Amino acid sequence: MKFTRLRLSGFKSFVEPTELVIEQGLTGVVGPNGCGKSNLLEALRWAMGESSYKSMRASGMDDVIFSGSASRPQRNMAEVTIVLDNSARAAPVGLNDDEVLEITRRIEREAGSIYRINGRDVRARDVQLLFADASTGARSPALVRQGQINEMINAKPQARRRVLEEAAGITGLYTRRHEAELK
Ligand code: ATP
Ligand code: MG
Repeated sequence: MKFTRLRLSGFKSFVEPTELVIEQGLTGVVGPNGCGKSNLLEALRWAMGESSYKSMRASGMDDVIFSGSASRPQRNMAEVTIVLDNSARAAPVGLNDDEVLEITRRIEREAGSIYRINGRDVRARDVQLLFADASTGARSPALVRQGQINEMINAKPQARRRVLEEAAGITGLYTRRHEAELK
């Protein structure tokens, strides 16, 4: 599966609907301090099911919604969509009829998040497992936050092990075992 597009609306500083096309190869995002580069990576993580608002540099999940500026009122809704090319049919069972997968997370003030895959309502878990099986996701070691290298150097062995497990693509299996044990 390949990321092909990222659409944002009302997410952090991306107040107006914005679509980024992710071409083959290396993509660079450049711009002055505070222009929204880190917000873009956070949007990607958020739509993959990030549940920790702290790791979104927020003091509550509603803080990802555009909070207003001198010239624009705040928004009450934020939405991020990841578009995936699934022509290799590598998605989990049940999703492989579709050539393109659109994963959307939407949040409304004081109403929490909802998730959709190709327009169908799904659980946060479904989205998290989809990306975990593809060895990526909100906690993927491929996404390196500002300051994260220092955190890794100072981390305890268990925390470092989790990073290796994510990289090995077995986190989705742990989640499924945990769910099976609960049943
Ligand atoms: P740097 O080069 O310093 O790392 P950056 O390009 O990564 O900067 P970001 O951290 O992505 O910049 O963007 C920060 C900007 O996003 C700030 O101006 C901040 O006010 C704005 N911002 C964050 N959350 C919201 C929100 N909920 N509503 C409106 N603006 C927001
Ligand atoms: Mg930044």
